[in-house]
Amino acid sequence: MRVKAIILDLDNTIYPVNAIGDKLFKSLFLLIEQSGEFKGDIKEIRGHIMRHPFQVVAHDFSFSDQLITDCLQLLSDLTYEDKMEPFEGYETLRNIPCKKYLVTTGFTKLQHSKIRQLGIVNDFEVVFVVDPSKSILTKKDIFKKILSDNYYNPEDVLVVGDDLHSEIKAAKELGIGTIVYNHNEEQPEAKSERAIHSFKDISPYLN
Ligand SMILES: [Mg+2]
Repeated sequence: MRVKAIILDLDNTIYPVNAIGDKLFKSLFLLIEQSGEFKGDIKEIRGHIMRHPFQVVAHDFSFSDQLITDCLQLLSDLTYEDKMEPFEGYETLRNIPCKKYLVTTGFTKLQHSKIRQLGIVNDFEVVFVVDPSKSILTKKDIFKKILSDNYYNPEDVLVVGDDLHSEIKAAKELGIGTIVYNHNEEQPEAKSERAIHSFKDISPYLN
């Protein structure tokens, strides 16, 4: 096996956010809706919140400064305590005999609660939460750190994630191979990318 390490995204790569999103973000959606201090359609905002970092959505839908402050306060303390299941096929990934690193963007407390509920923490050498409300570090900075800390060359590593504008872009900029996790063909832009619909399909990319 050529690949020595796989770096994984969490949300919409290891589990589907829409399975928990309505429940998880109920209080947030209510706060946004009641404030009215945004531009655009609340339904569209809901969809974006499940797919993109909050800070990006707040910017794209022109949230007021007050609304951003209120949302950040809510999100910084939010956790998810119900049962969660990884995507079908996750077992295949778990059993691949190489090192795995989890690099996820989001609110520290929330991301760790989801990792706990999924029961996956022991599958990873290190879990990194990139929290834009706490640090200016990006996924790209963390990828560089993983390479240098472990003396990996870019070609030793594979990045798997669903976001072409986040982990996939960062990996490409560093010369690391990428696979788009495109579970439900949700990303038409992923057509020209190396993509899988399930971890059951990952093995050809490891050699
Ligand atoms: Mg993701």
